[in-house]
Amino acid sequence: MLEVRGLKAWYGEAQALDDVDIDVGQGQVVTLVGRNGAGKTTLLRSLIGLHRQVQGSVRLDGTELLGTPAHRRARLGLGWVQDDRGVYASLNVEENLLLPPIVSDRAWPLEKVYEAFPVLAERRKAAGTTLSGGEQQMLAIARVLRTGSRLLLLDEPTEGLAPVIVQRIGDIIREVKAHGVTVLLIEQNVKFAATVADSHYLLAQGRVVTHLGNDEFTERQDELLEHLGV
Ligand code: ATP
Repeated sequence: MLEVRGLKAWYGEAQALDDVDIDVGQGQVVTLVGRNGAGKTTLLRSLIGLHRQVQGSVRLDGTELLGTPAHRRARLGLGWVQDDRGVYASLNVEENLLLPPIVSDRAWPLEKVYEAFPVLAERRKAAGTTLSGGEQQMLAIARVLRTGSRLLLLDEPTEGLAPVIVQRIGDIIREVKAHGVTVLLIEQNVKFAATVADSHYLLAQGRVVTHLGNDEFTERQDELLEHLGV
């Protein structure tokens, strides 16, 4: 579904990505793992069209995305869940869900959101401020699904969350996958990554070091933790 080939990115003269190749199949969950500064965020921002100093090729079901404006990439099905979660605290859950523009006919109606995430249905009138970290993350993901995204890009969804909530994020990602939505996520928590993903790309200094299926990744967890220092 997503085919990244020879992707390079720069900040001015400084190169942040070098010859990155990545494949994400339809319906898969894939993680990007690596130390701070490895280039993970730059990669996601390049895919979504927020970072423009790039070269190479990024195809979504065969359509070239590089050079395409970010709003058109969204219409093609790319959805970005921001790391600050972007939930409007002054609005209630349902108002937050009604906010995003519907950009395609794949957009999830409210009923589908509530069926997939019953907690949001229960809390539909609750203010954004009263949601737990896990509920906020759920709402942020649901809002992007409302727009009709079929490839979700998540930047460290578990960052700063308590272990019990991290487990909930796992449930949310598995639920998203069960609905046929593809997920590419940055994840520093190696143990968590092993519970949600089909495969993993390890990045270091702007390059893909290796690509591991989840079985091998799980077996080599301790070694990877030490190697990556994550
Ligand atoms: P982190 O988890 O810390 O965000 P990361 O793996 O996402 O790390 P990036 O943020 O993509 O890494 O950074 C990749 C490289 O690009 C690093 O060397 C970083 O210093 C550099 N970089 C990132 N953002 C900028 C920027 N706005 N201006 C200049 N250089 C940047």
